[in-house]
Amino acid sequence: MSRKIHIMPPELANKIAAGEVVQRPASVVKELVENSIDAGATKITVIVKDAGKELIQVIDNGEGMSEEDAVMAFRRHATSKIYKVDDLEKINTLGFRGEALASIAAVAQVELKTRPEDDELATFIKIENDEIKERTKGSFEKGTSITVKNLFFNTPARRHFLKTRQTELRNITDVIVRYALMYPNIEWRYISDDEELLNLKISTIQERIVALFGKKYSESLIEFRENTELLSVSGFLGKPDFSKKSRADQYVFLNGRYIYSKIINYAVYQAYEHLLETGSYPFFILFITIDPTKVDVNVHPSKHEVKFANESDIFRFIVSVVRRALASNDIIPQIKIQEGTAVQSFDSKITITPQTWNTKSFPTSSAQIYRIQTRQTDDISPRDTPGLIIGQQNDSQHTIQFQRQQSIESSTSLNSIIGRRIIEHSENTSTEERTIWQIHNKYIISQIKTGIMIIDQHVAHERILYERVLNNFKNSLPTTQQLLFPETIELHPSDYSLVKELIPELEKVGFAIKLFGKNTVVLEGIPADVRIGNERKILQEVLDEYKVNEQGGIKDVRDNLAKSFACKAAIKAGDRLTQQEMQILIDQLFATEMPYVCPHGRPVIIKIALEELDKRFGRT
Ligand code: ADP
Ligand code: MG
Repeated sequence: MSRKIHIMPPELANKIAAGEVVQRPASVVKELVENSIDAGATKITVIVKDAGKELIQVIDNGEGMSEEDAVMAFRRHATSKIYKVDDLEKINTLGFRGEALASIAAVAQVELKTRPEDDELATFIKIENDEIKERTKGSFEKGTSITVKNLFFNTPARRHFLKTRQTELRNITDVIVRYALMYPNIEWRYISDDEELLNLKISTIQERIVALFGKKYSESLIEFRENTELLSVSGFLGKPDFSKKSRADQYVFLNGRYIYSKIINYAVYQAYEHLLETGSYPFFILFITIDPTKVDVNVHPSKHEVKFANESDIFRFIVSVVRRALASNDIIPQIKIQEGTAVQSFDSKITITPQTWNTKSFPTSSAQIYRIQTRQTDDISPRDTPGLIIGQQNDSQHTIQFQRQQSIESSTSLNSIIGRRIIEHSENTSTEERTIWQIHNKYIISQIKTGIMIIDQHVAHERILYERVLNNFKNSLPTTQQLLFPETIELHPSDYSLVKELIPELEKVGFAIKLFGKNTVVLEGIPADVRIGNERKILQEVLDEYKVNEQGGIKDVRDNLAKSFACKAAIKAGDRLTQQEMQILIDQLFATEMPYVCPHGRPVIIKIALEELDKRFGRT
C-alpha cells in the first residue's frame, strides 16, 4: 500500500484544531467573550438558544475591526495580539493563539458584524465551512457582534457528545459568571431562550458578588489583599461554616484570566485546614496578579491551565496569605432570629477578641482557682493555658501522680480540663455576680459587650485538647498521669497492631503503653486530660475514632490521633460544670489558635447581638 505525505488542506486542519479549542457551546462563549474583553468592551451581551446548540451571539461595544481585519480574523493563526516569539513571554490579553475564530468557523455557521469607531459603515461577513459566503457593508453601532449558528452541524459525532441541555447551559453560565466576576467594570447581559438570566451594571467587585450570588454571600465573605514583589493577591474567602459540599464555588483568576490550578486550590485548602469538615470545601475568589514572564498560560489551547515558574513560592505565599486573612477575622457565627426560626449568618462588623474574655472580666465565686503552667520549662509562652489541677507533681518524671481516691474524684466535676502543674494560686474574688451560666449541662452562656455569646462546651474543649495534642507532637512534651495500678487490656488483634503502629504517637499524646504480646497491652499512664476511671474506655474509644477518621479520609496520623483523642477526652454534653470550670474552659478556649471552630469544622461559639434582641422585643 502506498501512502503519500501531504499538508492538510486548511479546512481539515481547522477542524482538527477546533476539536481542541471548541469542545462545547461553553467554549465558544468563552472564546467570544474573551475577544470582546480584549477589544476593550465595557458592555457585553451573550444570547444563546437551546443551550448554544442553535445559536450563540456575543455583542460587544469594543474597538471593532476594519473590513480587512474582519476577513483576516477567521484565518488560522490570525491574531492582532502578539507579533513575535518574545511576546509569548509576556501575554497580557486573554487571547493570543489566533485559533478561536478559525476553529469556530470550521464547525458552525458564523455571522460577523463589526465596526470600528472611525468607520462609517460596518462590515458584515457570513462564513460557512470555512468559506466566506457573503460580504457586505451596512450600518451597525460601534463594536462587534458574532453569531454562531448550528454548532457542530458538520461534525455530528461532536454534536452527539454534547451533554443535556441543562448541563451545557450550566457550563455557559459558569463561563459568564467567571468573567462577570473578574470584570465588574463591564456591563453584562445574558439571555437564554429569550429569558434574561443576568443583567449586571458596572459596579464594584463587592456589588458584583452580591448581584451574582446574593446578599448572603457578601455577608459571609472575608475580604483580603496582599502585595509583594513577586505577586499580589486579593479576594474573598468564605467563612468556615459557609463551606460547600462541592468545589463549584471556587474562583481563581490570574492576570485577568479564569484558571484552574491544583497548586493554588491545594494551598487554599491547606490554609483552611481544620476549619472545615471533611468533604466540605471553602468558597473563595482569588485575584492573582503576577509578572507575565513568571507564568506560562500556553499549556493548553483552552488556557485554563497555567504553569508557574516558582510553584513552591506561590504555594507558600497563598497558604500564608489565606491563613492570615482567616485568622484576623471574626469567624464566629452570629444568630439572626427570623420568623421564630434561628438562621445562622455572619457579622463581620462585631469582633470579639480573646481579650474580651480576659479573666478579669469574669468575677469568680469564692472557690479557689489554681493557675497552672503547661510546660516543665520556665518560659511561659502566651499560648500556655491555665487550668485546674489536683494531685501532686513529680518534677523528675514530668508526670503527675494521681491518687485514685474518691475524694479527689469528687472535688471537681471536670477532671478532663485539669491541667498539669500548680504554679500560681490565683486571687479569690468574692463577687457573687454571675456572668457565665451553664444551660442544660451543655452550653455556656455569657454576656459580652455586644450581646450574648453561647459556647458549646464539648466542642470548645475538643478544640483545646486538639491543639494541646498537636503541640505535644511538636514539642514532644507529653504530660502523663502515671496510674498507680496499671491496667491490662486485651484488644482486638487489629486494634493491637494499630496500637503497635501508633505507639510513638500515643506516647506523645500522653499514653504510657507497654505491649504485652497476645493482643494484650498494659496501660501504665494516661494523658493528664483524661478522667481517672476512664482509662480503659478512652484508649478503645480513641482507637475506634481513629479508624473511623481514617476511613473518612484523614491521612495524617497525628492529625487523626489529635482529633480522635480530643473528641473522646473532651467533656461531654451532660457534664455539669462549676463556675471555675467554665471560666477555665473559656480562658483556655481563647488561648487556642482557632477558638471559633472545632477540629471537625463545627462552630464553637455563637453570638446574638443586642440589637437583634432589641429588635425582637420591639425596642427599635
Ligand atoms: P486571538 O484572540 O487568539 O487573537 P481569535 O481567533 O480569537 O484569536 O481572534 C482573531 C483576531 O480577531 C483577534 O486577534 C482580534 O484582532 C480580532 N477579534 C476577534 N474578536 C474581536 C472582537 N470582538 N472585537 C475586535 N476584534 C476582534
Ligand atoms: Mg480570541
